[in-house]
Amino acid sequence: MDQIVLRNITKRFATRTMGDVTAVDHFNLSVREGECFSFLGPSGCGKSTTLRLIAGFEEPSEGEIEIGGRPVSVSSQNLCVPPEERGLGMVFQSYAVWPHMNVFENVAFPLRIQKTGREETGRRVKEALEHVGLSGLESRFPADLSGGQQQRIALARAIVTRPKTLLLDEPLSNLDPMLRESMRFEIRKLQKKLNLTVIFVTHDQAEAMAVSDRMMVCDMGKIIQTGTPEELYNRPNSRFVYGFLGESDFLNVVIKDGKAYAEGDLDHALPIPVPSDAKERMTVATRPNLIGLSGPGEDGYPSHIEKRIFLPDSTEYLVPAGGQILKVRTPHRVLFSEGEACAVRFAAPVWFPYED
Ligand code: ADP
Ligand code: MG
Repeated sequence: MDQIVLRNITKRFATRTMGDVTAVDHFNLSVREGECFSFLGPSGCGKSTTLRLIAGFEEPSEGEIEIGGRPVSVSSQNLCVPPEERGLGMVFQSYAVWPHMNVFENVAFPLRIQKTGREETGRRVKEALEHVGLSGLESRFPADLSGGQQQRIALARAIVTRPKTLLLDEPLSNLDPMLRESMRFEIRKLQKKLNLTVIFVTHDQAEAMAVSDRMMVCDMGKIIQTGTPEELYNRPNSRFVYGFLGESDFLNVVIKDGKAYAEGDLDHALPIPVPSDAKERMTVATRPNLIGLSGPGEDGYPSHIEKRIFLPDSTEYLVPAGGQILKVRTPHRVLFSEGEACAVRFAAPVWFPYED
């Protein structure tokens, strides 16, 4: 069943300097019950605005939103159910825990607003703290806790009212890298245990791919593609999605007599099969770790090492192809020196319309 449905949701903001800004442009989206769905895209693409529309902090300029089969925002009827009646829990990037309240009071806050009884409040706060691994810290104050623990307080506060849906807006962005990775798993575990529907907003593609059952990639207020992480990674519908989901090499090529040539070098064909519907000019995408280097004279496009960069997990080479530069990443044991000739091979090239 669909837990959250957006139909033609559009949000325009009136600004003083730029006129109307369309932050969200006709979004159509269904998030299924019990799934973790990510919004992934660069800063300013409309992720937070969409989340705020779902939460009820913003009213849509056009379109409708349903939560659990119930219309909560219908712009044509001027219907907008207030946030506290939508049955959602929310966590933001900045922890937004109150420094003057101890852990118990921070987590209990939503229950106080609902005027939940004392005993029930105690039970629920205890349960929520157990779920996030903070049992026993009830009387501590946020200043005495680490960033990760503070973010767990925010998480406990978001689930204390037992919502069916959690909205998380870049919840891990303020944490250090190691903690971010372990919190991904914890959020995932909590989601499964409580059978929550989760919408997870992030601009970090690895984070989105690690936590999501499905995700959407958006850019400049538009949904570009929706699918599972594997679908988006293996079958990107555009150069934008390919480029956003991992380190990429884009090579502009010219097609002549069924062969592909790097722009700027019509003497040496590239060792890649050309699709039958290729236009005269195309862009080929690949990834630095999918390009292979071997010695000169072997099969492959003849080039040389322009620069070698030694990194923690790999060696990176910059290798010219016509007037363009390919970034190549190999294990440390594949060793070339700067200036040395080499042959270049490409695994799994993906074709896109020509873009300069
Ligand atoms: P993201 O979360 O993907 O970084 P946002 O949803 O915050 O992006 O913003 C999308 C666009 O809408 C941006 O161009 C932003 O400047 C604009 N925007 C967001 N909120 C407002 C507002 N209250 N008034 C005017 N413009 C806004
Ligand atoms: Mg945002």
